[in-house]
Amino acid sequence: MKFCIDCGKAIEDAVVACPHCGASQVEAAQPVAEPVVEPDPVIVEVQPTGYQGSANPEDTGSVLWAVLGALIPIVGLVLYLVWKDSKPLSAKRAGMGAIIGFCLGVAGMVL
Ligand SMILES: [Zn+2]
Repeated sequence: MKFCIDCGKAIEDAVVACPHCGASQVEAAQPVAEPVVEPDPVIVEVQPTGYQGSANPEDTGSVLWAVLGALIPIVGLVLYLVWKDSKPLSAKRAGMGAIIGFCLGVAGMVL
């Protein structure tokens, strides 16, 4: 048996809230969560001429893959999955194209 920290009435030890006044019986102060300051997302999309973002010389990141992915989304998706490790740039292009093509396809069906 203990007493409510708020109204002082006798309550069971196990209760977490006073049945009389409803006050929480958890005395431990809740740690105040410090506000997490999220850094501004750095957009690293700008690729100057001659930028080598991939160790694979075949990873050209060609826009053609985006076009192909847009025309045939499933191909773009497959290319993305196949290339995402070896050719991240090209995979990104194909994946983006696939998403765009998929969206256009859905829009085309809806309209
Ligand atoms: Zn109480």
